[in-house]
Amino acid sequence: MTRRAYWAFTAMLLLATHATATRAQKPEDTEVWTPVPRIVTPGATNAAPPSDAIVLFDGRNAAEWVSARDSSPARWTVTNGTLVVNKPAGDIMTKRSFTDFQLHLEWQVPANITGSGQYRGNSGVFLAFAPPNGFYELQVVDSYENTTFANGQAGSVYKQYAPLVNAMRKPGEWQLFDVVWTAPRFNADGSLASPAYVTVFHNGVLVQDHVALKGVTKNTGLPEYKAHGAAPIMLQAHGDPSPPLAFRNIWLREIP
Ligand code: MG
Repeated sequence: MTRRAYWAFTAMLLLATHATATRAQKPEDTEVWTPVPRIVTPGATNAAPPSDAIVLFDGRNAAEWVSARDSSPARWTVTNGTLVVNKPAGDIMTKRSFTDFQLHLEWQVPANITGSGQYRGNSGVFLAFAPPNGFYELQVVDSYENTTFANGQAGSVYKQYAPLVNAMRKPGEWQLFDVVWTAPRFNADGSLASPAYVTVFHNGVLVQDHVALKGVTKNTGLPEYKAHGAAPIMLQAHGDPSPPLAFRNIWLREIP
């Protein structure tokens, strides 16, 4: 290439680049019109289930729940629109299995609660209950002026993540949990492909911000993962001797 040809070529290249860079951009270049998000009718109040929710407890019966022990019908007490823990009957789990979801539930520590630490209104929401390979507990316990280890108080991912703040209301008042759960994924050989993630609001306050779980919940020892698929949600009937908790208004939206 002669010197003149070289400069001519370079000039052409610069002009072409400039033309590309300055081709008029329009606001509509970055507008996405399809697919159109489907319509979901929100609940009449913020806590009421939206139109596409799977209602897991509407105050009338526990038909969506079974005993976690033997899959017999759940024997917790339905009273005044609430589902009250029956400790001797044990944990209950959903009939259905889920993978990724948005969950809303409300729980109440009774006003006459007794005990302290982990023995004061202990229950739990097990976001995927996959025995024998484990489960993941979002802790339910009275954390209103009740001291326990930080990663075991209400709104903790038990023994993994303390809540960002303590948003607990007094015993006798209703507590709201709004949860976004992304299930862990596993490779064909059983190894972990991606961990579980959870975001939790307690009474509308962010307490877990998309934390990556370290594995299944362990009371002793460190968490680890063992492969599992879709799993039920479980509510814990903890053996502490304090008066039982109540749940109400439980609904879930599957995330496709
Ligand atoms: Mg618990």
